[in-house]
Amino acid sequence: MSSSVGKGMDSATLLESMRAKSALLEGHFELSSGLHSDRYFQCALFLQYPEDAGNAALSIARVVRGLNIDVVVGPAMGAVTFSYEVGRACGTRALFTERKDGEMVLRRGFSFKKGERVLVVEDVLTTGGSAREVIAVIESLGAKVVSAGCLVNRSGGNPFEDLNIPLVSLADVEARTWKPSECPLCATGDKAVKPGSRPGA
Ligand SMILES: [Zn+2]
Repeated sequence: MSSSVGKGMDSATLLESMRAKSALLEGHFELSSGLHSDRYFQCALFLQYPEDAGNAALSIARVVRGLNIDVVVGPAMGAVTFSYEVGRACGTRALFTERKDGEMVLRRGFSFKKGERVLVVEDVLTTGGSAREVIAVIESLGAKVVSAGCLVNRSGGNPFEDLNIPLVSLADVEARTWKPSECPLCATGDKAVKPGSRPGA
């Protein structure tokens, strides 16, 4: 991929870069859900490098070019930096939603004009649950979500298909999780480790 404004980043390059930055760990992990997995993502370790984050963001911006995006929105904290870079790449505003008392909300004076076209951005999509809450907030405020995008999609499909919202993911990585009692890694006598504050995210 080549462009006068940046390199972009394909799936293999992204995953290689994430491995090199320990943003993608392969081993035997206990997730916050209690399930075990052979992979763990900590995207912040990738996104701490703005140039790489910007190149990844550019790849999403290229795919959604033509959708006339007005605003990019990501949920705090994990998606704030990446959605900001996607907003830069799209030449749009970049907002974030956050949780207050457990509820996803738009705060800090952020707002939408009626009918604004929104791209919702996540770092890693597991079930897409948080992103669906973001979509609901945006649409309740009169804007229109026209696409979703993410660095890594672990959902095994498009979790927004029923909403007719297309998903642009830079890498699709199968989520392999097991109950501890059924974990093939535990069966070898290996012990799972807890790698971070929000495993499996
Ligand atoms: Zn295990």
